[in-house]
Amino acid sequence: MRQISPIIINKKILLQQKIIKLKKQKNAVILAHYYQLPEIQEIADFVGDSLELSRKAAETEAEIIVFAGVYFMAETAKILNFNKKVLVPDVNAGCSLADGCPPDKFREFLKDYPNHKVVTYINCSAEIKTMSDYVCTSSNAVKVINSIPKEDKIVFAPDKNLGNYLIKETGREMVLWNGSCVVHEAFSLEKLIDLYQKNPDAVIVAHPESETHILKTAHYIGSTSGMINYIKSSPEIKFIIATESGILHKMKHEVPHKTLIPAPSKEDNSCACSECAFMKMNTLEKIYNCLLNEFPEVKLDRNLVDKARIPIEKMLQC
Ligand code: SF4
Repeated sequence: MRQISPIIINKKILLQQKIIKLKKQKNAVILAHYYQLPEIQEIADFVGDSLELSRKAAETEAEIIVFAGVYFMAETAKILNFNKKVLVPDVNAGCSLADGCPPDKFREFLKDYPNHKVVTYINCSAEIKTMSDYVCTSSNAVKVINSIPKEDKIVFAPDKNLGNYLIKETGREMVLWNGSCVVHEAFSLEKLIDLYQKNPDAVIVAHPESETHILKTAHYIGSTSGMINYIKSSPEIKFIIATESGILHKMKHEVPHKTLIPAPSKEDNSCACSECAFMKMNTLEKIYNCLLNEFPEVKLDRNLVDKARIPIEKMLQC
């Protein structure tokens, strides 16, 4: 394994200390997704999945929220805290699911399905949320779908893989938008089977954004926090994990005695695993600069926020 030079380690620690000092001075809070780089997770006030981060964003008393995740997550934090400053380290940190569901096209799509309840996965833009009756995350999607009266027809967007999983889990028919996560679609079934054959004592856990053939191989399917809890409470000691590899940082911390193997992706990359390039756009330097300059800031129109907040609040109650 390549050794990291002491100069780089010292630079990282110095930057972390400067960020911690600055966030105290400015009464700021840093919320970080599990898929963030380890050095960002280390200085965050809270690390969680989309649902947990939305809850923290709704509860915080800080004046400034720095959202170390991707843009739609920071937008959700702004929707829940209109009067607070929400900063993003990199405005270009998007998401293939959110970007693959443009509001004008989705509005047209919905015209073919009048009288349907619209359920959207949280990985979509604020404007898509304004067209939704319900918003859900992978943690509470089954609960949200089950809360909708049986006689109601449902459109689910933007993730077709999560949608197919929900159809199977809830037995509800749903019209699906054809979107997907580039990271969770990158897993190779062939390599996964090969890895499992070499590690037959391992338990395969997968995120429901993964493709159906990957989910069929999994012993456990759950949200990011669901997977962490499952691995913590399971008596097994070896796991193959099919989700973004950033989650391994938190898992290793929670279960240092267990063996965690990232599921292999189709591409041969340096870590033989799947990383979200959008999530990895955030760095300590960008976090320091956005906090120092209070820029880039998420700005949303008041009317849009008022409409988008309704389905998000329904989700938080679920
Ligand atoms: S891992 Fe997939 S769903 Fe999550 S932010 Fe990256 S592209 Fe979007």
